[in-house]
Amino acid sequence: MNHLLTQLLAALAPLRQAAQHHPRGFAAVGLSLLLLGGGAYALAAAVVTLAPDVAALPVHVVRETVTPLPLQEQAAALELHRYTLYRSELSRSNDTADTLLRRLGLNDPRAAEFLRRDALVQRHLLGRAGRNLTAEASDRDTLVKLTARWSPDDDGSFKRLVIEQAGAGFASRLESLPLTASTRIASGTIESSLFASTDEAGIPDAVAIQLAEIFSGDIDFHRELRKGDRYAVVYEVLEGDGEPLRAGRVLSAEFVNAGKAYQALWFQEPTVAHPEPVASGLPTRTQGRGGYYTLEGKSLKRAYLASPLAFSRVTSGFKMRFHPILKTWTRHLGVDYAAPTGTPVRSVGDGVVEFAGVQGGFGNVVFVRHRNSHVTVYAHLSRIAVRRGQRIDQGQSIGAVGATGWATGPHLHFEFRVNGQHQNPLTIARNSESIPVAPAARPAFNRLAAQARQQLAAGELLAQR
Ligand SMILES: [Zn+2]
Repeated sequence: MNHLLTQLLAALAPLRQAAQHHPRGFAAVGLSLLLLGGGAYALAAAVVTLAPDVAALPVHVVRETVTPLPLQEQAAALELHRYTLYRSELSRSNDTADTLLRRLGLNDPRAAEFLRRDALVQRHLLGRAGRNLTAEASDRDTLVKLTARWSPDDDGSFKRLVIEQAGAGFASRLESLPLTASTRIASGTIESSLFASTDEAGIPDAVAIQLAEIFSGDIDFHRELRKGDRYAVVYEVLEGDGEPLRAGRVLSAEFVNAGKAYQALWFQEPTVAHPEPVASGLPTRTQGRGGYYTLEGKSLKRAYLASPLAFSRVTSGFKMRFHPILKTWTRHLGVDYAAPTGTPVRSVGDGVVEFAGVQGGFGNVVFVRHRNSHVTVYAHLSRIAVRRGQRIDQGQSIGAVGATGWATGPHLHFEFRVNGQHQNPLTIARNSESIPVAPAARPAFNRLAAQARQQLAAGELLAQR
């Protein structure tokens, strides 16, 4: 496998050069490996534009899947025929028929006129951001065919709007088709923030957030990321016509935080057949529950999350620019999370609301009682979403960040108490028990874990290019 990877990496060089020569200019070049069945690899070069308003998916301006080897020749061929016929873009919310065609490098007043008047285009394209566009142009820069693709619902399908030359004019049609899943490996190193790094690597936000959530029992992504931390991630991408339209699930991942490596693997226990037939007389089958495990087979789901705030672009970029009054008020016995007013606050574990209301310096505060005399405290809330005595689940929203009580700016003051004694929340989260894979599912798990080890190692190698 190492030999194959060496060839792949050698073949990447001309592709990266090609990307850098693109006339529109790019902020980053993302390279990804597509995993095929049976351990075969195909190479995809993805040139990624960073569009902050369309953060969901990387834009593939040139994208070729080449298989099998030799890659060197195919990379050269890719260099020759790019941009001659096909151009790609993402639609923007302020697009008009003219700006859209211009961005695609087209100069075609008749096509512009059609786009302005066509009902399907009006309804599904103009003014809609984030549609994946590909255009086929004549050598006089007139439109031959324009295709817009998007996946509005999480139902495994995508929409395709096609505008095509027909007779003397154009015709449009709207189709609904199934998405296909492919798998990608990506990796990166933290320089300033997780999102800065995932942007650079062309990793969709949805995958970055999953990464943070998967390891949230071990790493507090709000407080503990270090420069030089690194990661590799294998994830699904749902594609329409080979264009990435939706980020899927993270399948496996590795995160090295402060020199310590954490790994995760998505595993769904095999389908279980019920022994007794139900009313219909037919035996039913239940899909086994899925979750993330270490490669050794221990569940990453813990009794407590490490952070009461979900990781997001908003919370990750918000820095505390003031000293909370509580620090001078008394010994500071909690952890402060800076976040904008209104950011959802979640319970770190299952429990029962012990108090929900106003209390002195805490302002609006919620106390949650968990098992074993554990109590968590969430203070300075702008809004409380639970009532005393209410039973709540891990991750459930209990209110929103605010600056009520003795606080000079919006932040969450969070405490973890065991028998009334204050504890470091992260230590408690890490020490809480985790559940192993069921013995019957162990062989299937071990096969998957071996495969994940290989893929993550490949991702690491890609990072060292
Ligand atoms: Zn505090």
